[in-house]
Amino acid sequence: MKTVLVTGGTGLVGQGIKSISLHFQNQLEFIFISSKQFDLTKSEQVEKMFETHKPNYIIHLAACVGGLFKNMNNKVEMLEKNLLLNYNVIHYSHVYKVEKLIACLSTCIFPNNIPSYPVTEEMLHDGPPHSSNDAYAYAKRMIEIHCKAYRENFGDEFICVSPTNIYGPHDNFNLEDGHVLPVLIHRCFLAKQSKQKFIIRGTGAPLRQFIFSEDVGLAIVKILLTENVPDNIILSVPESQEISIAEIGNMIAKNFDYQDHIVFDNSYSDGQFKKTVSNKRLLTLFPDFKFISVQDGIQRTIQWFLENKNIARI
Ligand code: NAP
Ligand code: GDP
Repeated sequence: MKTVLVTGGTGLVGQGIKSISLHFQNQLEFIFISSKQFDLTKSEQVEKMFETHKPNYIIHLAACVGGLFKNMNNKVEMLEKNLLLNYNVIHYSHVYKVEKLIACLSTCIFPNNIPSYPVTEEMLHDGPPHSSNDAYAYAKRMIEIHCKAYRENFGDEFICVSPTNIYGPHDNFNLEDGHVLPVLIHRCFLAKQSKQKFIIRGTGAPLRQFIFSEDVGLAIVKILLTENVPDNIILSVPESQEISIAEIGNMIAKNFDYQDHIVFDNSYSDGQFKKTVSNKRLLTLFPDFKFISVQDGIQRTIQWFLENKNIARI
């Protein structure tokens, strides 16, 4: 039995891994870590975490993370906290001889100007990220450089995954800080309750590939258990499932039976227009990988939100 320590174990993806972890109970014992147990920005607490748990594997998810507006308004925090906690986790994974580390990047840290879509893993450092999230993006890009340095100098099996827009139960539903999908669920719920318009920020035209948190969790654990995988793997639904923010808003409103009340507020930023990625590497490794449809995923996320409003991050 190997132990897997999951940093960010209380978050959206950490809880996605928890939901699918039973499938692997004969091979892996999971330990889910929250910031309340160990603040990973503090090196002495990170050392204590490794000393306490002595894990075989690390899945490093912990991050200071948020939607477009959190990224625009909190650049110093996004840069400093992420640099610190990523440095600590990767450094001590080497010191404590972790057998395999999977660290989480994001497709939103890839270059803004892409010569031809889709975006692939090799393009990560080929140009600046979108200006709205440059602080978060450069901190995250350093994870890839840091892991590569340990691979090259010491032969450590430190690799990265790059998910697209993730959503699901346990997401952050905070109206200012959250990502678009959970925020629109929360805002539509409030709009219907108070019989107000359901406001979607921006034009609704930008395109995104949304992946359900359990699919991300399953892909990460499969990658953990597979030998000789590439050193960065994009985790995404196919390009054909790219969808506009307006369509996502409509689907959410339909679940609340509130479609006729949508208003777009163009005074807000659209952020990056699109960042279409290829999931070819993922599907080459796992050709039978099945993704939960966005309709089903939204339904499950709304149901979780309605049943857990008292504990949800709002
Ligand atoms: P999340 O729901 O916001 O959870 C963040 C996690 O990080 C929480 O478990 C939190 O612990 C932990 N954390 C934050 N600061 C910490 C600190 N100082 N010390 C220890 N733990 C700390 O995030 P998520 O959406 O699951 O994201 C997981 C990973 O996926 C991140 O690396 C993120 O960059 C990446 N990603 C996310 C998306 C997305 O759409 N959400 C897309 C692409 C990539 P507490 O809750 O205990 O404070
Ligand atoms: P991104 O995919 O990294 O840009 O992050 P988000 O999940 O925050 O999605 C941002 C897109 O959703 C932009 O086009 C926003 O204009 C749009 N959007 C619409 N309403 C909201 C909202 O209330 N919050 C957020 N975060 N984005 C919104």
